[in-house]
Amino acid sequence: NPTIGVLALQGDVREHLAALESVGAHGVTVRRPGELAAVDGLVLPGGESTTIDKLLRIFELRDLLQARIKEGLPVYGSCAGMILLADRILDGTADQQTVGGMDVVVRRNAFGRQVDSFETDLDFAGISDVDDGGPVRTAFIRAPWIEEAGPEVEVLSRIPAVDTQGRPVAAAGRIVAARQGSLLATAFHPEITGDARVHGLFVSMVAGG
Ligand code: GLN
Repeated sequence: NPTIGVLALQGDVREHLAALESVGAHGVTVRRPGELAAVDGLVLPGGESTTIDKLLRIFELRDLLQARIKEGLPVYGSCAGMILLADRILDGTADQQTVGGMDVVVRRNAFGRQVDSFETDLDFAGISDVDDGGPVRTAFIRAPWIEEAGPEVEVLSRIPAVDTQGRPVAAAGRIVAARQGSLLATAFHPEITGDARVHGLFVSMVAGG
């Protein structure tokens, strides 16, 4: 089984470790360069992207992470992790940097205050269209969205046009999951809804899929 690290500087680390174990991967925390060098794949959890950005530099992980991404390390970024994987960012703080690797523009806190947290079911390419489990159960917590995606980026999920009651949705059509090569990003948290299929998809990417 592949060993998949969860960056454990800040954010919801335990939930990702549990989700990885539930789909048969071996999950380990990553805080040191030696640990980052040893993993077969890495999860960047949700949390606060400005804080994780600062801690990546303080813990001397940032340059190594960028190098490993360039070498093809599979990385899954959720929420703040998606912001870290984006090449460009809107509504970041003045000194906020990303790690980059995905040719996308991400808008932080895109869903606005009145709806800054919600759960919803989403169609997800490669998951809800290939198994019988139906749409993926997702949680959005002060989430970003992908505002622009380059030609190499495969869009996996968008906010639907109407909600389950048939009412129009303000964020209709916004991209909330995408893949570019070995990089996977979701605006939402699948690790807190008990639906581990996104982690299953990532484990299959780490295994060479
Ligand atoms: N709003 C947070 C940020 O900008 C992300 C929130 C999350 O990861 N749940 O980093």
